[in-house]
Amino acid sequence: MEYVTLSNGVKMPQLGYGVYQVSNEECERCVRDAISVGYRAIDTAQSYHNEDAVGAAVAASGVPRSELFLTTKIWIANGGYEKAKTSIDQSLKNLRSDYVDLLLIHQPFNDYYGTWRAMEEAYKAGKARAIGVSNFYPDRLIDLCRFVEIKPMVNQVETHVFNQQHQAHEIMVKYGVQHENWGPFAEGRKDFFTNPMLVEIGRKHGKSSAQAALRYLLQRDVVVIPKSTHKERMIQNLDVFDFALDDQDMAAIEALDEGQSLFFSHYDPATVEMITGLVR
Ligand code: NAP
Repeated sequence: MEYVTLSNGVKMPQLGYGVYQVSNEECERCVRDAISVGYRAIDTAQSYHNEDAVGAAVAASGVPRSELFLTTKIWIANGGYEKAKTSIDQSLKNLRSDYVDLLLIHQPFNDYYGTWRAMEEAYKAGKARAIGVSNFYPDRLIDLCRFVEIKPMVNQVETHVFNQQHQAHEIMVKYGVQHENWGPFAEGRKDFFTNPMLVEIGRKHGKSSAQAALRYLLQRDVVVIPKSTHKERMIQNLDVFDFALDDQDMAAIEALDEGQSLFFSHYDPATVEMITGLVR
């Protein structure tokens, strides 16, 4: 495993396991499998409704809490100082832990400045070892960095070979924010796993298309959190530290970039209505 060092000195595994769209019933088994095959970072969120399954799996894993890196995210419905504060304590209860390693604002909507103040307080109280944001496009990220006491340490944004986020990455580097990805396989969209370029580059190194895609992001200093409910794929996705893409491979994969989301844009009013409309 390789680690990145966040702006506050905290070390974060560069590869973790994401549990989006993993049901609460299945999640405990998945996280236990992930930890048993060597994952040490788990990415969940209040809105995934599986924090308690993650907490149960961690408790049953036999791995000391200090060796694990747990991330959760505050959902829009819990936006604003008071609600965020209460929700942080509920997340810790769900996760059966006194602290999370990384606490993120899930989306740049609702009163996220109020949310941030509650997170700064949680950070100072030792309830979060690091704090950050998710889905903050460069304009929102710069604004937040300019006006808060403690700057975000991480920004988790959609990043994969078809949406490589070069400009956003530069802004994160400029503001000392670690770039973390979501959707490293674009959730399989655009025939991701059979993409001829990825298959070919993977084959050249005795690896799969998935492994080539993860390796590309790792070599661009991005933290990755692939999701799979299958143990053999969990093993495969973790087995990416014994080879390196060369300049030719990197250039070939860079050319796959389409420079836009395969999911949605936060600049699109319809998307903002859709996401904020999830809060009832
Ligand atoms: P993803 O990791 O890009 O793709 C997951 C899909 O790829 C699943 O269908 C999985 O199938 C399949 N897969 C995984 N490994 C494979 C392999 N080696 N070969 C073939 N197929 C493979 O999608 P994601 O879950 O959306 O993203 C990863 C994590 O990012 C999430 O779990 C979550 O923690 C985080 N995330 C955050 C946000 C946010 O707004 N902050 C949004 C989305 C995701 P099986 O499960 O059937 O194996």
